Amino acid sequence: MSTVEILGTAQDAGVPHVGCRCENCAAAREGSRPTRYASAVRLEDAGRYLFDSTPDVRFQAVDVPDGAFLTHAHLGHLTGLLYFGRESVDADELPVYATSGLGDVIRDNEPLRSLVTEGNVDLRPVADGDAVTLETTSVTPLRVDHRESLPTGTLAYRIDGPDRSLLYVSDVDALTARVESLIREVDVALVDGTFWSRDEIDRVDDVPHPTVRSSMRVLDDVDTEILFTHLNHTNPLLDPASDARERLASAGFRVAERGDVLEL
Ligand SMILES: [Zn+2]
Ligand SMILES: [Zn+2]
Ligand SMILES: [Zn+2]
Repeated sequence: MSTVEILGTAQDAGVPHVGCRCENCAAAREGSRPTRYASAVRLEDAGRYLFDSTPDVRFQAVDVPDGAFLTHAHLGHLTGLLYFGRESVDADELPVYATSGLGDVIRDNEPLRSLVTEGNVDLRPVADGDAVTLETTSVTPLRVDHRESLPTGTLAYRIDGPDRSLLYVSDVDALTARVESLIREVDVALVDGTFWSRDEIDRVDDVPHPTVRSSMRVLDDVDTEILFTHLNHTNPLLDPASDARERLASAGFRVAERGDVLEL
């Protein structure tokens, strides 16, 4: 059997969020609610594989994993890779799976470039649909739309274990028919839950994500077990006593929590 453990459930910048004194951020700073780390999961097969390498990775990984799968080049998903370099654990040829474009960015730009020149990482480009076979699971990268302005692309990952399948789709511009069908095809899905509704931030058009409210309607009749992750600090779902949380639960969905373990 293999398992997937949830290591983080927040949007890239975490909760609390720099420069914010909203109720969610204040509660996390005071400790009345737990801090939320940036979205990431760990697959345990015979080895351990990290999905996303976040700025919170030092709280999320004790040992150097046997591989890291990256989704895309934004703050919360890439920058933790630096903790595998010489200033930190000085990893030895950690296999890093990413789009070829993201691999080029890592290879060509400091401070990430040093990870390659010092032999800390071994870049392994992956393409849409090409499965990586591990011990008892296979991992399939799936290209999704997330910011046209990001030429290096964005991946979701489907993980097929001996008994069950899981989709990790942390960031996507919209719940398109393709994304919806990817969700319907698996047993459990960790889905972009950045915003509950479009009125949470002023610049919502600059940072498109499907709202949880609309995703609940689209996914109303699915058999897939759905957990929302990548929650922004503004999301009312962060408050366990909120109306939003009650509506989510009564519709049969839930918020992903750090420490949750899903068996595959
Ligand atoms: Zn993100
Ligand atoms: Zn806040
Ligand atoms: Zn992103």
